[in-house]
Amino acid sequence: MSDAFEPGRVIGILGGGQLGRMLAMAAARMGFHIHVYEPGANPPAGEVAQKVFTASYDDRDALEAFAAGVDVVTYEFENVPADALDLIEAHVPIRPNRKALAVSQDRLDEKQFLNEIGLATAPFAPVDAGATDAAAQLAQAMSSVGVPAILKTRRLGYDGKGQARIMDVHGGAEALNAMADANAILEGLVDFDREISVIAARGLDGRIACFEPGENVHTDGILHTTRVPAAIDRGTRDRAFGVAGTILAALDYVGVLGVELFVTGEGLIVNEIAPRVHNSGHWTEAGAVISQFEQHIRAVAGWPLVDPLRHSDVEMTNLIGDDLAQVPAIRGETGALLHLYGKAEARPGRKMGHVTRILGPASDR
Ligand code: AMP
Repeated sequence: MSDAFEPGRVIGILGGGQLGRMLAMAAARMGFHIHVYEPGANPPAGEVAQKVFTASYDDRDALEAFAAGVDVVTYEFENVPADALDLIEAHVPIRPNRKALAVSQDRLDEKQFLNEIGLATAPFAPVDAGATDAAAQLAQAMSSVGVPAILKTRRLGYDGKGQARIMDVHGGAEALNAMADANAILEGLVDFDREISVIAARGLDGRIACFEPGENVHTDGILHTTRVPAAIDRGTRDRAFGVAGTILAALDYVGVLGVELFVTGEGLIVNEIAPRVHNSGHWTEAGAVISQFEQHIRAVAGWPLVDPLRHSDVEMTNLIGDDLAQVPAIRGETGALLHLYGKAEARPGRKMGHVTRILGPASDR
């Protein structure tokens, strides 16, 4: 019997932000129904879902009701508490699986996992910022990792939040304060030529398919633009595919995974992995034959993956906070595909939408 879902089946999504919304739109196109579980009111994904459960991740009744009404559960962010996942998994499969979530929830576990499977990361050392000997732990970490370095909270950091740079040996105390007693990790600062990411997918049948790497520029720790193709040679591109494939296979992964990489003179270094669709893959909806969202839904629904060929050179730019003021001008631009998330309030640092500009037909690197 085929494991592939027929249209009409119901996919549950944990998290109702813009990623959930774009997953829901792709799923609808494939004939599936979407139920969203999101603690916050009026989630962007709610507008395109059949059902929205507005409840916290410790509301057992709501979680039970959600799980009972869906055929599979996926997620748009990695910080879902383990108890909620236990409860859901008693009813339906979770794809990508729990191991993928566990390793990416904690920066220390993630780096250890990557090193165990033979992949390079920045040098790192754990620092418990809440311990009485935190200063001594940090001094020890700085001597093993070196400075400059970045102190990051192990959990719940995103878009550069929960991070403090240490530029010299005197910068430790201030960085430690910024960690608010959290468990942290000190990472050596990587001297990279560029940042790229690979959006990769693995199907239920184990087949792996990678979108071409995008080149990312971050501003204040938040992704600003992704340009495809990245200015890398074929060897680097193929090695980046190899890194993504190694991670997917090691996790027995089903779905789309984002892998952020530093390109350095000494080779590729993995910055972090995201067990979900990724902001740096938004270009795929405009520049490739299939979007990362549809590829992900295909994987979790047991459909075969599509060869994710790129047909155009593109640049995706995030519209963050006040960038929304650019929308009237972008609307009139030729070759600019605008995507807005339907969020009511534009706060600083909040992702409100993105625009992907078609630069021309796919050039070869
Ligand atoms: P992260 O939230 O860990 O992805 O960090 C956000 C951004 O900060 C990255 O995309 C890099 O631009 C920069 N960054 C983070 N960690 C390092 C590192 N160890 N070395 C150099 N740059 C880093």
